[in-house]
Amino acid sequence: MAIKDTGSRIRRRGLMLVLSSPSGAGKSTIARNLLEADHGFELSVSVTTRPRRGSEIDGRHYHFRTRREFEILRDNDELLEWAEVHGNFYATPREPAERAMAEGRDMLFDIDWQGAKQLREKMRGDIVSVFILPPSMAELKARLKRRAEDQEAVIETRLKNARDEIEHWTEYDFVVINDDLDRAFTEVKAIISAERLRRDRRPGLFDFVSGLLDEAL
Ligand code: 5GP
Repeated sequence: MAIKDTGSRIRRRGLMLVLSSPSGAGKSTIARNLLEADHGFELSVSVTTRPRRGSEIDGRHYHFRTRREFEILRDNDELLEWAEVHGNFYATPREPAERAMAEGRDMLFDIDWQGAKQLREKMRGDIVSVFILPPSMAELKARLKRRAEDQEAVIETRLKNARDEIEHWTEYDFVVINDDLDRAFTEVKAIISAERLRRDRRPGLFDFVSGLLDEAL
């Protein structure tokens, strides 16, 4: 039902780490670094109707689906949350996320504020939400251009949407300003370390402490 605390024998529940930010603020890089550095985390692979970018792999970065396929998943209640972002649909598949939580594994969600809101409502105590801010809007624009995987018109839409996304920063538990990737990543890791140590996430502490108190000296 639950995994062990890192480096200890104490059972704890999994946590759902939600990362949100406007496109280009570095959230995907932080997510990728985290998955490489911390094998306790599994990525929730979203479903999307957005066209696949050249570097993306179906089933790994997203499950790319047609609008019709998406609607069927939604109508069959197979989506834990869904939202329209930049004119495309995005959603978190229900089954892998619920299974990870039931088995006490940690899961990472790279989703927008609308998805974060729905997950908070549904999975309250399991959610830790982090909002990543860019150091400036000029830097955000430069990063979107450097990425250059999108058409110019798409970049303009994303910049406009960035403002809307940023307005939701107060809904998050933590805020990290990504002016330096290493520092931002270190801050995200610190958040995770602290959250894993929360008392209410560690039911195994009851047995541990009663064992401590029963210990014959
Ligand atoms: P992109 O198209 O650049 O991969 O993602 C665009 C936005 O959609 C990002 O802010 C990303 O976090 C968000 N997103 C990706 N997957 C999901 C999802 O499953 N649900 C929601 N609500 N947003 C998502």
